[in-house]
Amino acid sequence: MEQVETVIVGAGVIGLAIARYLAVRGQEVLILEAEGAVGRHTSTRNSQVIHAGIYYPRGSAQQVLCLKGRQMLYDYCASRHVGHRRIGKLTVARKSAEVDQLHALAAQGRANGVDDLSVISAAALAEREPAVVGAGAMLSPSSGIVDAPGLMLSLLGEAEAGGAMLALNARFLRARKERGRFLLEVGGAIEVTIGCKRLVNAAALGAWGVASGIDGMRVDSIPPCNLAKGNYFSIPGPSPFSALIYPMPKVGSLGIHSVQDLGGGVRFGPDMHWVDVVDYSVDPEFLPQFEAEIRSYWPGLPEGVLRPDMAGIRPRIWGFGSAKREFEFQDSSVHGVAGLVQLFGFESPGLTACLAIAEHVGELLGKGDDQ
Ligand SMILES: Cc1cc2nc3c(=O)[nH]c(=O)nc-3n(C[C@H](O)[C@H](O)[C@H](O)COP(=O)(O)OP(=O)(O)OC[C@H]3O[C@@H](n4cnc5c(N)ncnc54)[C@H](O)[C@@H]3O)c2cc1C
Repeated sequence: MEQVETVIVGAGVIGLAIARYLAVRGQEVLILEAEGAVGRHTSTRNSQVIHAGIYYPRGSAQQVLCLKGRQMLYDYCASRHVGHRRIGKLTVARKSAEVDQLHALAAQGRANGVDDLSVISAAALAEREPAVVGAGAMLSPSSGIVDAPGLMLSLLGEAEAGGAMLALNARFLRARKERGRFLLEVGGAIEVTIGCKRLVNAAALGAWGVASGIDGMRVDSIPPCNLAKGNYFSIPGPSPFSALIYPMPKVGSLGIHSVQDLGGGVRFGPDMHWVDVVDYSVDPEFLPQFEAEIRSYWPGLPEGVLRPDMAGIRPRIWGFGSAKREFEFQDSSVHGVAGLVQLFGFESPGLTACLAIAEHVGELLGKGDDQ
């Protein structure tokens, strides 16, 4: 039977960032990935925005890890030549009644430590972004975009250089504890039993399935599983904007905003629909709603150019009447299994914060040594 120190389930941006964090510190790591390649789910089905950290409740894990992770990510991308651009973001007040909300948002952002925000007038907005119409906007210069697939390849490369191994087509099925070690059953292309001292559940949409396969878990520690789908539509040709353009945020969604890619193209999204299954097809029936939302800040959107593009699904531990919850790290104090760290509900800003999340998981695993 193969024996390793730490197994990480899930090769998305978070699992890979954790693998790199541990491997560069000399720890033995095996990453199990159910798919035939890394990052096939949430990590490549998102807006690829480096968030500044404006909206999250002060002191929440999202706020703290976003702020720390954003700087870590900019530094990492610059030093490893991972594609990224600090293009800035404009949150647009579409009516003058929304301008007060812009000031409130800017105050919240500053209280969160985002110290470069400013509210600009309609005229200044028109000068910066001639295609956009609004009564004013909040400018966030430290928001940007990142090449998520490139980031994952870089994280994987460093993890492998540190000795980490990646097993593709390797689905975690179940685990039990024997004499202080986990025995993992793995199915897929390889069917093996693997022994390990520490186990990290970074399976995102698959995290609930992984948790329910671990013997000895306090079942009531597994949070609710809600899937919030976000669709994107795109237009051909270059982006008409130079910065990211966002409407005012709503509960549960930042609104249908523009997302620029590093090649200069643009798509719009995501919207928000609760779903029961992981299905990434984009229903063209949402097109009129997208057109209306986009035209509310870009009246010049030409007729008939918007096309269904792609979709992603937010793994959520809240919704359906329950209050908004931040993402959750669970160690044995929560679920009762020593040596196990689980991550639930890692929606946005999980990409921005991946390096800070990895550091936090590394610290939780370190504490587990005493158990
Ligand atoms: C629509 C949308 C927009 C977003 N926009 C942004 C944004 O602009 N900026 C930002 O910072 N964040 C954004 N996010 C959040 C960000 O994408 C996620 O927080 C992040 O990608 C989560 O990474 P992950 O590694 O946890 O998940 P994933 O990338 O989903 O990785 C989990 C992996 O686990 C594997 N897996 C599952 N079950 C098993 C099993 N049993 N055995 C083995 N492997 C398994 C899966 O195949 C998958 O590869 C967005 C998310 C969505 C959905």
